[in-house]
Amino acid sequence: MPHFIDVILPLPLDKRFTYEVTPEESEVIRLGMRVAVPFGKSKIYTAVVAGKHKNAPQVYEAKPISQILDESPVVTKTQLELWRWIASYYMCAEGEVLKAALPGAFLLESENIVQLAPGFDQEEIELNDEEYLVTEALQRQSSLKIQEVMQVLDKKSVLPVLNRLVAKKAVVLDREIYEQYTPKKVRFVKLREEFSAEKAMHQLLDDLGRAPKQREVILTYFNLQAQSKKPLKVKTLTSKSGASSATIKSLIDKNILEEYYLEVDRVSFKEETARGEIRLSELQESVFQQIRENLKEQNVCLLHGITSSGKTEVYIKLIERVIAKGKQVLYLLPEIALTTQLIQRLRNYFGDQVLVFHSKYSVNERVEVYNHVLQNNPKARIVLGARSAVFLPFADLGLIITDEEHETTFKQFDPAPRYNARDTAVVLANFFKAKILLGSATPSLESYFNAKHHKYGLVELDRRYGNVLEPEIEIVDIKTKHKKKKMTGHFSDSLLQEITAALKEEEQVILFQNRRGFSPILECNTCGHSPQCPNCDVSLTYHSFSRQLRCHYCGYHIAMQQKCMACDSTDISTKGFGTEQIETELKALFPDYKIGRMDQDTTRGKYAYEKIITAFEQHELDILVGTQMLSKGLDFRNVKLVGIMNADNLLNFPDFRAHERSFQLMLQVAGRAGRTKKRGKVLIQSYNPHHQIVQQVSTNDYKGMYKDQIEERYNYKYPPFYRLIKFSIKSRDYSKTNESAAWLAKALTNVFRENVLGPEFPPVARIRNEYYKNILLKIPQKQSLGKTKEVVNKVLTSFNAVPAFRSVRVVVNVDPM
Ligand code: ADP
Ligand code: ZN
Ligand code: ZN
Repeated sequence: MPHFIDVILPLPLDKRFTYEVTPEESEVIRLGMRVAVPFGKSKIYTAVVAGKHKNAPQVYEAKPISQILDESPVVTKTQLELWRWIASYYMCAEGEVLKAALPGAFLLESENIVQLAPGFDQEEIELNDEEYLVTEALQRQSSLKIQEVMQVLDKKSVLPVLNRLVAKKAVVLDREIYEQYTPKKVRFVKLREEFSAEKAMHQLLDDLGRAPKQREVILTYFNLQAQSKKPLKVKTLTSKSGASSATIKSLIDKNILEEYYLEVDRVSFKEETARGEIRLSELQESVFQQIRENLKEQNVCLLHGITSSGKTEVYIKLIERVIAKGKQVLYLLPEIALTTQLIQRLRNYFGDQVLVFHSKYSVNERVEVYNHVLQNNPKARIVLGARSAVFLPFADLGLIITDEEHETTFKQFDPAPRYNARDTAVVLANFFKAKILLGSATPSLESYFNAKHHKYGLVELDRRYGNVLEPEIEIVDIKTKHKKKKMTGHFSDSLLQEITAALKEEEQVILFQNRRGFSPILECNTCGHSPQCPNCDVSLTYHSFSRQLRCHYCGYHIAMQQKCMACDSTDISTKGFGTEQIETELKALFPDYKIGRMDQDTTRGKYAYEKIITAFEQHELDILVGTQMLSKGLDFRNVKLVGIMNADNLLNFPDFRAHERSFQLMLQVAGRAGRTKKRGKVLIQSYNPHHQIVQQVSTNDYKGMYKDQIEERYNYKYPPFYRLIKFSIKSRDYSKTNESAAWLAKALTNVFRENVLGPEFPPVARIRNEYYKNILLKIPQKQSLGKTKEVVNKVLTSFNAVPAFRSVRVVVNVDPM
């Protein structure tokens, strides 16, 4: 009797595919192993075995597999279950989930391109003959297609050889960017050993009698060392002793002082939490106990803790108990909050049991993390990662922490699977009977609603750690300021005063502006024309640094124009403002201070935002201007003042979550002020100072915001009362877009009646020459989600069968954000 396996191919296919295997192969194959299989006319793919049986497929003849790639499974049964759940819940193909879930290096296919790993050294890596042949070929020719590797080795089954080469770090796969991040090092000094004895020290001071400046430095050094044995930065020594760096240098040249360098991230934390001990405050301790109580009864608990209340410390204590039982912990947070600082904080406490999973890691790094987790290696007890970490092959998960749970970056927008990691984590935890802790200073309405309705436990932590007061929040009415001519560019006199004061005290300042670029658009004052992107329905944005007009959607750009393109008038001006303009204005206002900017334009490369964050932490920057990136759980220590340049463009965003988002964003940015020692201050500039949300932010009134917003959600039938599925129809043909969208809306309306909204053009209806139209389906709580999706799938199948719509694509987004 023939044997068969069902596999998941890394392709957007509706179904699993069945292949035939020999009885011998069937003997060794286990679920979760990879096999190379032929697919289509000539392609070979890496697929994952998801089933074994003896039933031949009915509609096609099963092909034999090319070969088995693993000796043991690389995908666990739980992962297979999770993939199936994601595919069905988020309405996508299992193959799409597989592609998101496995490191690219696991999915070699005939299209891949192989290159030598940077720094590859033949002497250092042991290779067998075949492996050697491949690397030798790569030294002659910088890259090879898999097909070419087949020629080199004169055989078809080259994937195992390549897999081994990847594992040995001898080769890398296509499109990998290798930019190594070297953490910044800081210069320290210490006195040479021979002067540490009392006698030698006095002798030294005598000898320096004729060099009073150098003597002063040494005296200061002794003073500082008497206060603390911490490593001494050269910067500290010069500022305390008033010496120049030349004086320090001569002491180093004379072999009296010795300089050395340390990585700053490591050092700054050795200073504070290196004792590897955390003592919770009384309030934190009580919260910790409440969470434990809660999690006895419930699977999910929400910790609503204000910014800087020490949620991280509470997490650490919880993690400690879980790993003591030999279980694994997944700690999810927004990508950008994965700072060296936090990683170090955890490593200081847990040593090398902490593993980080970063989407910007190279293939090799990701493979390594994946394997550690798969083997339940003690190194992988605690996995810290952004959303895609839910795909790791956990063996025995005990706890998932989702920090900043309100963050929309937990939801993947594009491509499929369009999953929300926060919600997927709940399902993942259930497979292991593990517990979940959601944390936020500004919980999502959905989570708070669940907590209020006893689906989740709820614990509140409402004081900052160490008796630091919450920042004082002041609203500045810029309408009045404009009238009274109290504005300098986009800065009110009040904001300028506060910035000046903070800088004088050597404190840092954060300025938040919800837009990148210089100034959204260029407008002709004669005819009103503003230059448009030829590919998208948006105006081009002025970027002063590059003196270009750019499209934020497709990257199209032209040089800045001197004349109106429509009427040739030279009377043109820029309207609106962005981060770049704030930065430019600031440089003119505060020429003596260092100003940095953090937005999408300045954070493109690997570790780019890590670098800006570190520079700010190290006080190499006095003022940091940025977009929402600044709101994501960063722990800066010296920020006295936070300025929100304009609250209004947040509030006016056309989305049913705009008010909730504005509240979260503003309060989170505000939370960066005064996190340690001194009380911080926050200024919010607004044209609508009486806006409900602005008022609620200024009094940190989460509950008031919740009450208002939840009422609106109820009245207008939005989550958490209704679930949503969004359909985006796109095509290059304008009338096809219209026709097909109308067709789909009608088909859905036939079944779901008034719960179908649209079709409607989104605010930007054309991107990269494709037209977009959206339909929204609202699903009442009582309506079965499973049944709804069944119907939706049927409608989509009929849609796809319409020949005229062949060129139209429908993107389905379940629980859109
Ligand atoms: P949150 O995550 O709630 O915003 P953090 O955990 O970052 O707050 O804590 C804010 C600051 O207070 C951090 O610098 C942290 O080191 C410090 N802190 C909080 N709790 C403690 C504690 N129990 N012992 C020592 N430092 C603490
Ligand atoms: Zn004009
Ligand atoms: Zn464009």
